[in-house]
Amino acid sequence: MTIPVLKRGVYIAGTWRASSTGETFGLVDPATEQPFGEAAAASADDVSAAVEAARAAFEDGPWPQTSITDRAAVLRRFADELEADVEPLAELVMRETGLPRPDSIGGTKAMLAVLRYYADLADEIELTERRVGRTGVTALIEKQPVGVVAQIVPWNSPIVMAAFNLPTALLAGCTVVLKPSELSPLSAGYLADAAERAGLPPGVLNIVTGRPEASEALVRDPRVDKIAFTGSTATGRVIAAAAAPTLKHVSLELGGKAAALVLDDAPLDRLVRTMVPAIMFNNGQMCLQPSRLVVPVPRHDEIVEALAEAFAKIIVGPPSNPDTQVGPLISRAQHEHVLGLLRSAVDDGGRFAVGGGMPEGLGTGFYVEPTIITGVTPDSRVATEEIFAPVLVVLPYEDEEEALKIVNDTEFGLNDAVYSADPERALALARRMQSGSVNINNGQYLDVAIPFGGVKQSGYGRELGPEGLDAYFQTRVIYLDAEPFHGLG
Ligand code: NAD
Repeated sequence: MTIPVLKRGVYIAGTWRASSTGETFGLVDPATEQPFGEAAAASADDVSAAVEAARAAFEDGPWPQTSITDRAAVLRRFADELEADVEPLAELVMRETGLPRPDSIGGTKAMLAVLRYYADLADEIELTERRVGRTGVTALIEKQPVGVVAQIVPWNSPIVMAAFNLPTALLAGCTVVLKPSELSPLSAGYLADAAERAGLPPGVLNIVTGRPEASEALVRDPRVDKIAFTGSTATGRVIAAAAAPTLKHVSLELGGKAAALVLDDAPLDRLVRTMVPAIMFNNGQMCLQPSRLVVPVPRHDEIVEALAEAFAKIIVGPPSNPDTQVGPLISRAQHEHVLGLLRSAVDDGGRFAVGGGMPEGLGTGFYVEPTIITGVTPDSRVATEEIFAPVLVVLPYEDEEEALKIVNDTEFGLNDAVYSADPERALALARRMQSGSVNINNGQYLDVAIPFGGVKQSGYGRELGPEGLDAYFQTRVIYLDAEPFHGLG
């Protein structure tokens, strides 16, 4: 297999180069705790040059003027080129993030699916509508690309996170400065390589790697028209504020603390079959993860026992091991944070039905046991804070109104779930859940054609589906030979 690229610079106007200061930062493999590569630490000058390249490609380059059908053809070739790199890219994602090999491969495949979906959707998009108004005036209603997009992504599945905005921005005719997480900066390089081979003009996609300071400069830059941010709610707040002085368009995909509400008639086998993968997916580091299980008191012990038995069978280990289902957490800092949260559960009177610490026999690597916490209250730290690990908190309820209150009593609103044998009852409760998506009899789900996004402090804006593409257009109206204005209709 080809050895993945373990050193990269910044990618600006179609050229890879070192950061202007020559500064780099090292990367640590979360499974071995060993250094494995380095990335350029972009300076403010590099960020400025990347924005300049994107601005020039938007103002004077061919991309925004290219027909949407031709842009779709480039997206298709982009997918084909990237497909050739699935193996080395997955190998790199595994080292950057500790995601097991199938999840790492799945990340690249998600990008292919999104590129191809939007390329197909282009055939259905009318960029110009000729409309006759109520006064008899004729106007052209046109979809225009928003402009220069700063796309800032997190480390948990870096290629998937890029997929949620990059194909839509490109198809709409925007130009992009992509800022990957400092914990997974190298994998995005494969996107630039594949896009270049596919014929994307220079400057349309630029990549700056670096610490948060690099993206702070990007967010403040007045030549950026839109920020597509995926990351924590805390950073989302900072970004929304930094975007305000120049009134940039902002979309925020932020944290979550999803709940799965189990009704008294919910089939246990389906609950176990769907909840276990929903918790373990992406090493438990998924914004959609239903990390709170809200259960009726009479069924508490039965449910905890069944899930604990299933959690105990999960194979935790190195991501390259073909049997591994859950790899390490992303970093030492996150590992210490999660272990601290588990200790707080004990301080809050909680118990571990399974797990609760580091797995035996894995002395190296940022591993955490699949864990179920019981005996804590809905206002405890583990029940309110995003944990981002293979950890489930079980919260009992007496009646459905109390259950709904527990589900909705959170600052987040990304995803929830409801389990019941009665579809009508489940749907009625789903409609009362304050979140961007609700799953009936499943823990979490995504589909490229279905919009995704949060409410409350999980953010705003929608990705995927036609709605995701709409976010990269703005409307321009051209009136044709209107008479002097004499009223709206
Ligand atoms: P993070 O907020 O720490 O960082 C995300 C990105 O923002 C990184 O690229 C980082 O360099 C950059 N950044 C950090 N501080 C910045 C600042 N002040 N200005 C501009 N950019 C800044 O998040 P993370 O730890 O990388 O990712 C985990 C979080 O992401 C979790 O909260 C998770 O729920 C969330 N997430 C949300 C979604 C979603 O779609 N809603 C998807 C995945 C992850």
